[in-house]
Amino acid sequence: MVQLLDGKRVRDEILSELQPRIQALPRRPGLAVVLVGADPASEVYVSSKVKTCGELGFFSDKITRPATTTTAELLAIVDQLNASPAIDGILVQMPLPKHIDAQQVLSRIAPEKDVDGFHPVNVGRLSIGLPGPRPCTPNGVMQLLRRYGIEVAGKRAVIVGRSDIVGKPMAMLLLHAHATVTICHSRTADLAAECQRADILVGAIGRPAFLTADHIRPGAVVIDVGINRLTERSQVEAIWRNEPAILAEFDRKGKLLVGDTHPIDAPALASAWTPVPGGVGPLTIAMLMSNTVEASELRQTC
Ligand code: NDP
Repeated sequence: MVQLLDGKRVRDEILSELQPRIQALPRRPGLAVVLVGADPASEVYVSSKVKTCGELGFFSDKITRPATTTTAELLAIVDQLNASPAIDGILVQMPLPKHIDAQQVLSRIAPEKDVDGFHPVNVGRLSIGLPGPRPCTPNGVMQLLRRYGIEVAGKRAVIVGRSDIVGKPMAMLLLHAHATVTICHSRTADLAAECQRADILVGAIGRPAFLTADHIRPGAVVIDVGINRLTERSQVEAIWRNEPAILAEFDRKGKLLVGDTHPIDAPALASAWTPVPGGVGPLTIAMLMSNTVEASELRQTC
C-alpha cells in the first residue's frame, strides 16, 4: 500500500514553526515579489506567495510590470529593492519574457536577499556545502523526505530533469544527504533503465504523466515535482484510462492538474508518492517563507 506524502500537512508544520521566529524579530520580515508580464500561472503563484506573506504577518511588496519591460528597467527595480531597509527577500517570478536577460537579473539581486537561492554565489555555496538559501522546491522535497522519515543516505536517487531551479539543486541536496545520484535529461540513452534503478525517483520534467510503470521500480519512493495543466479531454481519458470520477471532475472544471508521474502507475508501484496536486507544490511557498525569515534574522541580528 503506497504512503501518500502530504505536502499540505508538512507545509502547515513548517509555517507554524516559523511563527515564534517571526515574533522574535524586532521588525517584521519583508518580501518583494516582482512579476513581469501577465502569464496566468505566474499570476496565480505570485498571488499565493503574497497571500501567505499576509497570513504570516510579513510586509510584502508586489511589483507588477508589463511584458514590454526592459532588462535595464528590471535591473533598476532590483537595485531599489536591494537598497530598501524594509525588504529582506527579493523574488523575481520566472519565467521572464524572452527579451529579458534572466541571468543578469538574478545575478543583480543581493545574495543575502536572494530567497530563491538562484544567485550564482548561492548556487556555489550549495555546491560546496556552505550555508545559504537553498532553492525552494528541491529544499521542500528534502523537508518532505526528512519529515516522513525516508532514509536518503546510501540510497540510489535518480532525478529526471536538469534545470537550474529544480533538477540540479535537487541533485546537489540529495548528494549532500549522501544519496548516490544520477541526473537524467532529454538526451539520456535509456531513461527507463536508469529510472528502474532508483530507490528514490524524482520527476522534474514538465510532461504530463511521463514516468509510467516502465520507469518505476516496485517499492521506490517517487517524488513528483511536475505541474501540468490538462485542458484536452482526450488527454485525461488516455492518462486516467477513462476513470469516470476523474472524467466527471474534468467536465466540471474544464481542466485538471497532473504531475510528471503517471497518477495510476505511480501509486500502484511506489512505496511512497507525492500526489499532484497536494504533494511537492505546497512546500515551495513554505520554503520561500522559511528562506525569507532566515534572511530577515541574518539582516536584523548581525
Ligand atoms: P524545465 O523545462 O526547465 O526542465 C525540464 C527538464 O526535463 C530538462 O532538463 C529536460 O531535459 C528534461 N526533459 C524534458 N523532456 C524529457 C524527456 N523526454 N526525457 C527526459 N528528460 C526530459 O522545467 P523545470 O525544471 O522548471 O520544471 C519541471 C516541472 O516542475 C514542470 O512541470 C514545472 O511546472 C514543475 N515545477 C514545479 C514547482 C513546484 O512548486 N512544485 C516549481 C518549479 C517547477 P533537457 O535539459 O535535456 O532539455
